Amino acid sequence: MIRKLLNCLHLYNIIQVNLHSIIFCNTLKLYFMAFTVPALPYAYEALEPHIDKETMQIHHDKHHQAYVDNLNKAIAGTENENKSIEELVKNAGSISPAVRNNGGGHWNHSFFWESLAPNSGGSPDGKLSDAINEVFGSLDGFKEKFNAAGIGRFGSGWVWLGSQAGKLVICSTPNQDNPLMDVAECKSAPILGCDVWEHAYYLKYQNKRPDYLNAFWNVVNWKKVAERFKP
Ligand code: MN
Repeated sequence: MIRKLLNCLHLYNIIQVNLHSIIFCNTLKLYFMAFTVPALPYAYEALEPHIDKETMQIHHDKHHQAYVDNLNKAIAGTENENKSIEELVKNAGSISPAVRNNGGGHWNHSFFWESLAPNSGGSPDGKLSDAINEVFGSLDGFKEKFNAAGIGRFGSGWVWLGSQAGKLVICSTPNQDNPLMDVAECKSAPILGCDVWEHAYYLKYQNKRPDYLNAFWNVVNWKKVAERFKP
């Protein structure tokens, strides 16, 4: 519907050749079409003491915003301008490094905020619990392997729990790559992700990434993870 409206306005621009209508149309287009940072689904301080308020503020308002701004810049005026974030991410390797890094950054962080929740943690139940036990033996066995993958990621990146046709796999990606990308070494449908960039934990945990990974389990939104799991 918005696309149709914009096409209409575009036509209007050509016919009128009126500077004001062009400015109006471009502003409107930017407003409707550009990607935006989704609001956090909880307060900045809601994940304390496991993830602190200041980290959440900077991470969400500055880092995520920068990915979104740079993504919008990278696609403005190109054939990729009207594509969904999923489409951009899936073809990231063949589009451009800017879309790979910033489109990945936008998708990954949007997914990350939803993966966390206050008063959460604990353990999953139902089919997800069964699938975890089947592959990793137990929830603790799974956490150990997930943490090891996060600790083992040299430099910046992510660790994921993904589903390959219903079978769970742990996978780690560099920078802002994710398992949906054409360039991913282990492709899967992610159901949980943990950001292991230093900006995700340095203020509270400094160089102690293992401590951050241990704390992460106290704020995992298993309800959301289970929703994403399609066995
Ligand atoms: Mn991050």
